[in-house]
Amino acid sequence: MKTYKIAAIPADGIGPEVIDAGLQALEALATRDGSFQFDVETFDWGSDYYKKHGVMMPDDGTEQLKPFNAIFFGAVGAPDVPDHITLWGLRLPICQGFDQYANVRPTKILPGITSPLTGVGPGDLDWVIVRENSEGEYSGNGGRTHRGLPEEVGTEVSIFTRTGVTRIMRYAFKLAQSRPRKLLTVVTKSNAQRYGMVMWDEIAAEVAQEFPDVTWDKMLVDAMTVRMALKPQSLDTIVATNLHADILSDLAGALAGSLGVAPTGNIDPERRSPSMFEPIHGSAFDITGKGIANPVATFWTASQMLEHLGEEAAGARLMEAVEKVCEAGIMTPDIGGTATTQDVTDAVCEAIRGSNIL
Ligand code: NAD
Ligand code: MN
Repeated sequence: MKTYKIAAIPADGIGPEVIDAGLQALEALATRDGSFQFDVETFDWGSDYYKKHGVMMPDDGTEQLKPFNAIFFGAVGAPDVPDHITLWGLRLPICQGFDQYANVRPTKILPGITSPLTGVGPGDLDWVIVRENSEGEYSGNGGRTHRGLPEEVGTEVSIFTRTGVTRIMRYAFKLAQSRPRKLLTVVTKSNAQRYGMVMWDEIAAEVAQEFPDVTWDKMLVDAMTVRMALKPQSLDTIVATNLHADILSDLAGALAGSLGVAPTGNIDPERRSPSMFEPIHGSAFDITGKGIANPVATFWTASQMLEHLGEEAAGARLMEAVEKVCEAGIMTPDIGGTATTQDVTDAVCEAIRGSNIL
C-alpha cells in the first residue's frame, strides 16, 4: 500500500473548518480505493501561534515540511494581526522557500451553481489561470524612506527574470497543450509597463515556437477583465504575473459563483520539494465558527493534490462527487443553499463511497 505523507496547516479563521472537511474526503477516498493511505501530520502554525511565539511558524518551518509529499493549507489572516505579517510569515516563505513557482487555479462553473453572468452556465466558463508565483510584484523588493515626513517615499519593485518568465511560460504552454482546446492567453500590461512586461511578451513569442499546436494570444490586463466578463467562452488557459493573476483569479472565482469554490495549487513542477494545495479564499472571519464555510474549494484543491501525487482516478472521483452534490443542491449559503459544512462533507463522502470510477 502506498502511503502519502501530508502536512496539514489549517491556520486561521475558517481554515481549520475546511481542512477538516478536506481530510474527511481524503480518508473516504483512501478507504474507497484501498491502494493508498494518508499519513497526516497537523501543524498549529498561524496567527494564534504568532500571538504566543512572535512568529507565524518556527524558524526551521520549511525544513520540517521538506519530508512531506504535499502540504494541505487552510488560510491565514486574523483581525488583530496585520495582513502583511500573516502572509509574509507563513504562506509566502513556503511558496518561495520551496520555489513553488507555478500557481495553478482551475475555474469552472460547477453544475447547480449560478454564475452572476446572465446566460452563462457550466461549459461556458472553464479556465485554468496560471499565476507566476515566485517573482514580479511580490518579490519583496522595495523600501520606505523618510517615514511619516512629507518627503516619504515607498517603492514596490517588480522583478522579472528571463529564467522566471521562461519557466512559467513553458509551464502554461504545456498545460494549454494538455487541454482539449489548446488555447492560451498571455496577460501583461506592456503598453504602460515598458520593461518587464515587454520582456514577458517577447518570451511568450519565443516559447510559443516550441508549441506549434497551441493557439495563443495576448491581452492587456485591464481589457482582460472585460473579456472575462463578456466573452468567457473565448478563454481557456491563461498565464499572468503574480499580481495580475492574483486579481484575475478572484474575479474568475466570483464569475464561477463564489470564492468558496475556487482552488489553487502552488506547484514546484520540478518536484524538488513538496507542493502546497489550498483554497483561494482567506480566513473569512465574518463566518468563522458558524459551520457554514463552503468546503468545495478545499475539496477541489484536494483533487489537485491527488492528481499531483499521481492518484488521478481518486482526484477525478472526488470532483465527480462534488459535482453530484452541487447538482443535488446540497450547498452552503454563499452559493444559495442552506447546508452546513458538515452536511456538504457528509454528502461528498457518501458519493465517494458510491462512486463507480475505477
Ligand atoms: P476572504 O476570502 O476571507 O472572505 C471574503 C468573503 O468571502 C467573505 O464575505 C467570506 O465570508 C466569503 N468566503 C470566503 N471563503 C468562503 C467559504 N469557503 N465559504 C463561504 N464564504 C466564504 O477574504 P477577506 O475577507 O478579504 O480576508 C479575510 C482575511 O483573510 C484577511 O486577513 C486576508 O488577508 C486573509 N486572506 C488570506 C488568504 C490566504 O490565506 N491565502 C487569501 C485571501 C485573504
Ligand atoms: Mn489573492
